[in-house]
Amino acid sequence: MKTQTHFDVIVCGGGPGGIGAALGSRATGARTLLIERYGYLGGGATAMLVNPFMPYITGNKQIIHGVFERLLQALAARRAYGAPNQPTAFDPEAFKIVAERMCLEAGVDLLYHAYLASADTDAEGRISRIHLATKGGLLTLTADIFVDATGDGDLAAMTGCQVETGRPEDGLCQPMTLNFRMAGVDVERMPSRQEFTAMYIAAKERGEISCPRENILFFFSTQPGVIHFNTTRVVKLDATDSWQLTAAEIEARRQVWQLAEFFIKQVPGFENAYLQMTAPQIGVRESRRVLGKYVLTAEDCLETRKFADAIARGCYNIDIHSPTGEGTVIKRIPPGEWYEIPYRSLLPKGPGNLLIGSRCISATHEAHSAIRVMPIVMAIGQAAGVAAGLSVRGNVLPRNLPVLEIQRELLAQGQSFDKPGLDLP
Ligand SMILES: Cc1cc2nc3c(=O)[nH]c(=O)nc-3n(C[C@H](O)[C@H](O)[C@H](O)COP(=O)(O)OP(=O)(O)OC[C@H]3O[C@@H](n4cnc5c(N)ncnc54)[C@H](O)[C@@H]3O)c2cc1C
Repeated sequence: MKTQTHFDVIVCGGGPGGIGAALGSRATGARTLLIERYGYLGGGATAMLVNPFMPYITGNKQIIHGVFERLLQALAARRAYGAPNQPTAFDPEAFKIVAERMCLEAGVDLLYHAYLASADTDAEGRISRIHLATKGGLLTLTADIFVDATGDGDLAAMTGCQVETGRPEDGLCQPMTLNFRMAGVDVERMPSRQEFTAMYIAAKERGEISCPRENILFFFSTQPGVIHFNTTRVVKLDATDSWQLTAAEIEARRQVWQLAEFFIKQVPGFENAYLQMTAPQIGVRESRRVLGKYVLTAEDCLETRKFADAIARGCYNIDIHSPTGEGTVIKRIPPGEWYEIPYRSLLPKGPGNLLIGSRCISATHEAHSAIRVMPIVMAIGQAAGVAAGLSVRGNVLPRNLPVLEIQRELLAQGQSFDKPGLDLP
C-alpha cells in the first residue's frame, strides 16, 4: 500500500481536463498524482454521461491533437469511437478503461474515492496541503504545484482565488442536465428531429410534460438501438451547493421518467424501448470561473483571436442554454476558423503554485460556453499539466515560466500550433 504523501504535482479532478493535466505533467518527468472523487476517470465523459465529442476539426484542419488524439486512437482501437450517424460518439465504459490505462502506463499515480475537502495556504500564500475525505478518514497530501481540474474550481475557491459565477446581470449559470439513454429503440422508425420536437411541444402544451427545454436533443450512440438524450433542464440552481445539487438531481430524475414514459407511449420506434440508464450524476455545464491574468471573452472567440502565449485551440461556438427557461443562444465561429486560449487564462489570481486545468479557466460567461467542451478542455488540461511539470523541473512558479518553454513541450507531446519558429530548438 502506498504511503507517499508528497508529490511534485497533484491534479485534483479526473475529468477530461484532469486526464490531460496528469498526462501532460507526467510526460515532463514530474511525479504526478491524479485524485478523483469517483472510482473511475472521465468526469463529464463518464460520470455525467456526456456524448459525443464536440468538434475538434474545423474546415479540413484538425486543431486539437496531443492527449486528446491519443485517447481517440485508443478508443478506436477498442471499436469504441464513432457511430454510423454520429462520427464523434464514444463508448463511456471504454473511455474509463482507456483513460485509466493511459495514466497508468505513463506512470501517473491514481487515487480514487478521494474527495477534495479543504486546503491550507502558507505565509507566502501558496497551497501547502490539501485534505481529502476518504473511506479511511481525512488524508492530507502535499505537492510543489497543484492543478485544479475539478471543473467547479473547488481548490481555487478553497484557497482564496477570485472567482465569478454565471452571467454578469444576475450570476445565474447555464442549466444542469441529467443525461439519459433509451435502449431497445427501433431507430429506423424514429421520427425526424423536427417531428420529434413537434410531438414533445404538443405534449408540453397538453400538460403531459413539464420540462423547460425547448426541444428534444438526442444523439445516436455507439450501441445499436440506444439513443442518448440531452433533454432535461434544471434552471436557477447552484451546482456548488449540495442542497441545491440534490434538488437538481431530484427534479431532473422526475423529468427523465416523464420523458421516457412519453417516448414509450407516444413516439414511433420507442414501443419496446426502456430507460437504460441515467448518468451517475447530473451534468453541470457551468459553475465557478476562476479569474486570472487574462479573461477570455466572446469577442476573442468570435473574432478567432490568436495569442503569443497560446496553449490550446478551439473551434466550438458560443452555446448558452438559457439559465432561466426555454431557449439556447448560439453564436457561430466563422467556418474553418479557430480561436486560441492564452496561458494567462490558466494562472489564477491566487496561490502562486496553482494552475487551472479544466473548464473553469479565466473566461467570461459567454467565452466559457465555448471552451467548456471536452476536446478543448483536455487540451487546456494538458497545457496546465505541462506548465506544472516544467515549474517543478525549473523550480519556478508557473507565472514565471517562459511560455515558449510550455509551447515547445506541448509540441513535443504532439499538440500543434501555427507559430512560426516554435519548433526550432
Ligand atoms: C449536459 C451537458 C452536455 C454537454 N455536452 C457536451 C458535448 O456534447 N460534447 C462535449 O464535448 N462537451 C459537452 N459538455 C461539456 C463537457 O462535458 C464539460 O464541460 C467537460 O467535461 C469539462 O471537463 P472538466 O475536466 O473541466 O470537468 P469535469 O468533466 O466536470 O471533471 C471534473 C472531475 O473532477 C472531479 N471532482 C470534482 N470536484 C471534486 C472534488 N472536490 N474532489 C475530487 N474530485 C472532484 C469530478 O468527479 C470529475 O471527474 C456538456 C456538459 C454537460 C453538463
